[in-house]
Amino acid sequence: MKKLDNNGYITSILLLLMLIPVILLLIITIEQDNHYVNNTAENIQNNKLTSITSDFENEMEIFTKETLHNMTKEVIINNKAYDNSTQVFKTRLQNTINQNQEKYYNNSGCIINCTINNVKAANNPFQIEISYFLTTTFNSKNKIEKNNKIYINLTDGDYEIYDPLPTLQTGVKPTNNIINYTDELSKIIQIENSTVYTNAIDGYVIKKCPYDEYTKHGHNHTIITNCIDNHYYHESHDGLCILCRLENKSTCPHMGLETFIIPTGEIEKAPVSIDHVLFNTTENGQYAGDKIILNNTTVIYLDNGHKSKYGL
Ligand SMILES: [Zn+2]
Ligand SMILES: [Zn+2]
Repeated sequence: MKKLDNNGYITSILLLLMLIPVILLLIITIEQDNHYVNNTAENIQNNKLTSITSDFENEMEIFTKETLHNMTKEVIINNKAYDNSTQVFKTRLQNTINQNQEKYYNNSGCIINCTINNVKAANNPFQIEISYFLTTTFNSKNKIEKNNKIYINLTDGDYEIYDPLPTLQTGVKPTNNIINYTDELSKIIQIENSTVYTNAIDGYVIKKCPYDEYTKHGHNHTIITNCIDNHYYHESHDGLCILCRLENKSTCPHMGLETFIIPTGEIEKAPVSIDHVLFNTTENGQYAGDKIILNNTTVIYLDNGHKSKYGL
């Protein structure tokens, strides 16, 4: 009996010794699985956060354009300039963004905090520069935090940006998608032969001239005709940026825009047919240029600077 007992005892110990590695292996495998599940859950959360953050930022671009669209429209309808267009822009954009943050929280539980630090005219006058600080998180574990600067194109997308300057300067509002100045533009021109601008025509939707090489305007009849017919805008050091246009300024320290205003009268010399010249009512702001015949029905007047810029 005793011998048998001894044998049983030894067998049990051996079995136990053999089981230990198996148990250890099982523990390790379970832990690895748990770790994998945790990691996967964290990855899913991180991916979701990245995707929500990028959706939110894309919507910010749309809101920027919508805000500027509404502001330029309101200024034209009310014929009233802003005292500080940058401040109005910043406040309105921030309000829209705050509402959107709430929407994101209600829909996804994601806590978004976005502060607009600055809104300004970009070096490219067809863009607006927006700086912001953004944090997004589900819980403190997953968090995205960034300081960012984005450039919003004014001339693409669903929201048209309007030029408030023609209305603010002359009181004339757009009809049938153009501005016909009647005798209101010639009234503000202080140099001689202003009457060539009676019934002058202008655009008011900011559209970028597709002919980037400006000197080609004069080398190709189709280009200048197309540019004039579409009332395209061009980059200009002397022209006004969109934010200064909203304030009805005469000059602007930023890189700005200029467009041709098409006169109706023909004479040898007359005020230069560029918006920032005709609208500049400060002393010596307006000056005369030479007649340039574009076609049977259209002439414009340009000084030497603008002649060489457009190759005319
Ligand atoms: Zn052009
Ligand atoms: Zn400006």
